[in-house]
Amino acid sequence: MRTYYLRSFGCQMNEHDAERIRALLEERGLAPVGEPDGADVLVYNTCTVRKSADDRLAGHLGTAARLKREDPGRIVLVTGCLPQAEKDELFRRFPFVDGAVGPQNLHHLGDLLDAAVEPPGPAGGGASSAKRPRGYFEDGPAMSGALEARRQRPFQAWVQIMSGCTNFCSYCIVPQVRGPERSRDLAEVVAEVRRLVGDGVREVTLLGQNVNAYGRDLGRLTGAGGSRSAAGDGPGFPALLRALDAVDGLERVRFMTSHPKDLSDELVAAVAESPSVCEHVHLPAQAGSDRILAAMRRGYTAEWFIGRAHALREAVPDVSITTDLIAGFPGETEQEFAQTLDLVEAAAFDAAYTFVYSPRRGTAAADLPGQLPAEVKRERVERLIAATQRLALKSHTSWVGRRAEVLVEGASRDGRLLRGRSRQNVTVNVSGPSEPGAIVDVEVTTATTTTLRGTVATATSRR
Ligand code: SAM
Ligand code: SF4
Repeated sequence: MRTYYLRSFGCQMNEHDAERIRALLEERGLAPVGEPDGADVLVYNTCTVRKSADDRLAGHLGTAARLKREDPGRIVLVTGCLPQAEKDELFRRFPFVDGAVGPQNLHHLGDLLDAAVEPPGPAGGGASSAKRPRGYFEDGPAMSGALEARRQRPFQAWVQIMSGCTNFCSYCIVPQVRGPERSRDLAEVVAEVRRLVGDGVREVTLLGQNVNAYGRDLGRLTGAGGSRSAAGDGPGFPALLRALDAVDGLERVRFMTSHPKDLSDELVAAVAESPSVCEHVHLPAQAGSDRILAAMRRGYTAEWFIGRAHALREAVPDVSITTDLIAGFPGETEQEFAQTLDLVEAAAFDAAYTFVYSPRRGTAAADLPGQLPAEVKRERVERLIAATQRLALKSHTSWVGRRAEVLVEGASRDGRLLRGRSRQNVTVNVSGPSEPGAIVDVEVTTATTTTLRGTVATATSRR
């Protein structure tokens, strides 16, 4: 049996794409292997958001080059954001790569694989890689949203509700590599979720770069010849959440990522009023200085952000608000950085991903004056890590002595306990009788900056 090795980098959207790549490869009779050495097909699903991901990829492709030299019959494919951003450079830097496909064209992966395999027959029996055509598919319609996925767990599923992003934050490469915002039809999403629930799924996570912009692009093409109406008269994200909350048997709905500028009162109300929608909002703030937020083109001020966080906390008891923060944007002064620390305190984040600003070619911020030295950025991100970890510990400690509802996902890292996630998206290590896929109430006994620990109290089912 032919085998494949898949290595995926980056965000949840990429992880979900990785599930689809697995499904596409396994449909073609390939079996997964955990190490690249024995594989017939090597697939690298790439991320370009920060330079660190690029650097790690270069190391992995070094291994792929060696394996290809040892056996030129091996096929090396590159998927994800890199092919979309830098196709020509990719083939120049890594000439042994047989084919590449961007995230908007994942549905062509099977064709790419066929193109990379030499046709059988008297002239084509050998394994000369030199004869193979290089495969690449130009930008096409965002069809990948509806592709099948090989899910990691039978009771959880990611559902991509939109692709791309049209915000063009000045530091971010995503709009270039994933194209403009395109929402899937609401009825199609609901039908997919119904089907998943029928298959035993209890929790879905809705994915998009900016899920609360969902629907803004729907209903725009109207009239003969597709003339454009004012915009955004399709159903929005709050309507989608309410429609999913009405799906019988669906216990938990999660979503990410939300953009603070689009966090409407209707959305806050939909989260508060829909029992299956989990009490967790990932709301990237990025910075706390209004000048930096404007230079980032985020479309909100620090005051707006804090107001939205307070509105959420008021309407949704026990809501967890997590965030992304960038340290060392070009021209950021010490005083402006201190405003990020102030915002962290005012919003009282429950957890945060902290990033050192990384200039990406093709983005507006990469050409700004005032690029900061690596040591300054590193020192600032360390202060952000310290502040956000302190707040995370405080948030987690507030659960000690209380009950948290946990969906059990599998064994804990050391294999001695079970491990799951609370509705607030905190990892919980659980002792007591239960099994993967169960939803249980857990008496929380201890907390760390990243996890809770507790004992099963009762088996729960919300409905
Ligand atoms: N769409 C989401 C949003 O608007 O927040 C997330 C997109 S991005 C893949 C995830 C995070 O990476 C961003 O929130 C930002 O904090 C970070 N990021 C993006 N570009 C970056 C860059 N050039 N340098 C450092 N961090 C970056
Ligand atoms: Fe990037 Fe901004 Fe779009 Fe998020 S909203 S993907 S940070 S451009």
